[in-house]
Amino acid sequence: AARVAGLRMSDESWSAVALDMGGAVLGEARRAAPPGRMDADTVEEAAAALLADLGRAARVGPEGFASVGVGLPGMVDHPGGAVAWSPLLLRRDLPLADLLGRRLGAPVLLENDAQAATLAELWFGAGRFAADFAVVTIENGLGMGLVAGNRLTRGGGGLGLELGHTKVQLDGALCRCGRRGCLEAYVADYALAREAETALVGGSRAGAVGADLLDRLHAEAKAGHPAAASIFRRAGRYMALALSNVALLFDPAKIILSGERMRYDQLHSDEVIEEMRRLLIDSGRPPPPVEIHAWGGSVWARGAAALALQHVTEAATG
Ligand code: BGC
Ligand code: ZN
Repeated sequence: AARVAGLRMSDESWSAVALDMGGAVLGEARRAAPPGRMDADTVEEAAAALLADLGRAARVGPEGFASVGVGLPGMVDHPGGAVAWSPLLLRRDLPLADLLGRRLGAPVLLENDAQAATLAELWFGAGRFAADFAVVTIENGLGMGLVAGNRLTRGGGGLGLELGHTKVQLDGALCRCGRRGCLEAYVADYALAREAETALVGGSRAGAVGADLLDRLHAEAKAGHPAAASIFRRAGRYMALALSNVALLFDPAKIILSGERMRYDQLHSDEVIEEMRRLLIDSGRPPPPVEIHAWGGSVWARGAAALALQHVTEAATG
C-alpha cells in the first residue's frame, strides 16, 4: 500500500510525518533547522536527511513514499511550486518543488505552511464538519488559510493570504519580511521574544527564537510579573485586531486558531474575543465563533502530508 510523507520547514525545527492512505500516522521525525537563511543546496540536504529519518521511523524504505508534501513559510507560487519569497531562503523565486522532487525521488507538492495546516484542519481537525472557515496560526510568524465550499482557497497566484504582513502601523516595528508595521511584528514569537529580552532578560540574542524563552515569559505572566503580563496583554490586543480583520475581509463561518502558540491562553482569552467583537461593525449578525485547536506542532507536517495524500488520490482517480 502507498505511503506519503509531509515535511514542514521553519526557522527553529523541521518536522515530518508519514501517513498511510487512510491518514493514519506511521511515524514522525524532527530535526533542528539549518541556521540562517538557506541556499538551495542546504534545503535539499536537510530535506533529504529528514526524509531518511522519517523512513527509518515509519519503516518505509528509500523511494518508499509515493508523494511528499512540503510546507514552509512564505509565498508559494501555485500551482508551479516555486517559492517567490520565504523568510527562510536566501533567494527569491526558487523552483523548490522541482529541485526537491529530483532530490527526493518523488513528486513534491509545495505549499505555504499555514495553508497546509488549514488543509490538516479540514481533513483531520477542527474543520472536519465545516465547509467555510478561516485558520489563523501563530508561531514564529503569523499565517492564515481559508476554506470556502470545502476547498482551500488561494489568491490568484497563491501568494496571498499573508495576514501576518498586513500593516497595522505606519513606520512601526520591524518585521522579518524587512518591512515595518506588519501585524506579526507585534504578536509572533520573535516579536514577543524581542520584548521579553528588553523587559526580562536584558540584552539581545542572535538567531531563532527558542520556545523555552516564550514558555518562561508565559510562566512569568501567569505568576503576575507585570512586564511579562503586559507583553501578553498587548499581543492579545493585536490578536483581536487580526481576527477582526479576517472577519471583515472574508466573513468566515468560523475562525480556527492553530499552531504551537495557542497554548498561551492570553492570545485567545475572553478579553481578546470581546475586543474582536468591539472592532467589528455592528451588523446585527453574530461575529464568527472562534475555536482553539491546540494540537500543537504536528499540525504543520500533517497538513503537508495531506497535500501528498490528495495528490496520490487524485492521480489514482484521474
Ligand atoms: C509568513 C507566512 C507563514 C507564517 C507562518 C509568516 O511570516 O509570511 O507565509 O505562513 O509566517 O509560518
Ligand atoms: Zn512583514
